[in-house]
Amino acid sequence: MGRVILEARDIWYRYPRGMEAIRGISFHIWRGEKVAVVGPNGAGKSTLLLMFNGMVKPDRGIILFDNEPIRYDRAALRELRRKVGFVMQNPDRQIISPTVFQDVAFGPVNLGYSGEEVRKAVERALAQVGLQGFERRPPHQLSGGEKKRVAIAGVLAMDPDVLILDEPTTGLDPSGSEDIMELLDELHHQGKTVIISTHDIELAYPWADRAILLTRGRILQEDVPDIAFGDPELVRMARLSMPTLLELYIELKKRGFSLPERKPKTVLDMLNVIDRAFRNRLCYTQPGRITVLDVDAPCKVSLSEWRARHPGVSLGAMGTRAKQRAAEEKITPEFTYGVIDKCILKALLGEDSMIVTTGSMAGRVRERVQEFSREFNLDIEVVMARETIE
Ligand code: ADP
Repeated sequence: MGRVILEARDIWYRYPRGMEAIRGISFHIWRGEKVAVVGPNGAGKSTLLLMFNGMVKPDRGIILFDNEPIRYDRAALRELRRKVGFVMQNPDRQIISPTVFQDVAFGPVNLGYSGEEVRKAVERALAQVGLQGFERRPPHQLSGGEKKRVAIAGVLAMDPDVLILDEPTTGLDPSGSEDIMELLDELHHQGKTVIISTHDIELAYPWADRAILLTRGRILQEDVPDIAFGDPELVRMARLSMPTLLELYIELKKRGFSLPERKPKTVLDMLNVIDRAFRNRLCYTQPGRITVLDVDAPCKVSLSEWRARHPGVSLGAMGTRAKQRAAEEKITPEFTYGVIDKCILKALLGEDSMIVTTGSMAGRVRERVQEFSREFNLDIEVVMARETIE
């Protein structure tokens, strides 16, 4: 799977005068991954992420970037923070300059870029977050989503390899949150490794390549999201609730529906699951057989004889002549309307049936049943009475 870009090796951390926030955590982040660190408030998410760009130093254990243990001298931290950008939860704490340009330029200026390099870096970063033309705007006049973008641009201006965002959607409305997640996807496509923390499991579930479930400073589970979030007990322990689409999938599966292996992450995926579930579920058993008797064709047995040989088999009469023939033989058909579908329904319950009809209508029965069988991936047999009655 590529290279490890960040690694935590048995890290522990206690805040001064606080409780232990991180209690023995180890994991890898691969280059180019989208990882969500998910857990309730106070789980240790922010603390953990802050360790990745050196803002918090573990009491025990080490953090590695590009397979090298992080060093905490000024020069090393400066270099690390250029490569591992951190976007805080509250943009007001990150945005400090009077204009958007100055704010986004802060990092590149500090890194000693020339005026022209700074201008280019800011221009590129603002374009990446869709805020071209915002250079002279005072950040405090921007919307929450725009401020978030400015904060992201400030980090992007240094062209980091890794982008870490602490609760990136806090305070944003649903559409603003989706916009930010989409932006993160785009940045990921541009080659960034993206790590977010969130307690919004619905948001993390379709987005992340991998999820790390964190609670009380420990990792509960670490896997692809449908597995990480698919264990009701663990999700409950993390004081979260399972993503709705995943829960629905699991409930359908428990009820014996035959479902695609891939778990649904979007409404479209779920539609596919439902479609598959109910197509297969239409038939609980080996489908019954439909026998067609063409009353115009030569046949060695009469209708009444056939019926006597097959007690309990439902009979449908389709068309005027078939109904007349039934009447002549003093037989009352179970179905005289919508006969083909009614017999298909019988077949789906595993029951055999017979359709009495004439001429071309016999062909229609076969066609309709075959069409239905194809569409729902079933095998309902249609036989002509001549073929069976000898
Ligand atoms: P999360 O991001 O998952 O909400 P945090 O990393 O912010 O969790 O916090 C983890 C634990 O550390 C919590 O118990 C929190 O109260 C504690 N904590 C966080 N920041 C400080 C701090 N500056 N001083 C003391 N304790 C802190």
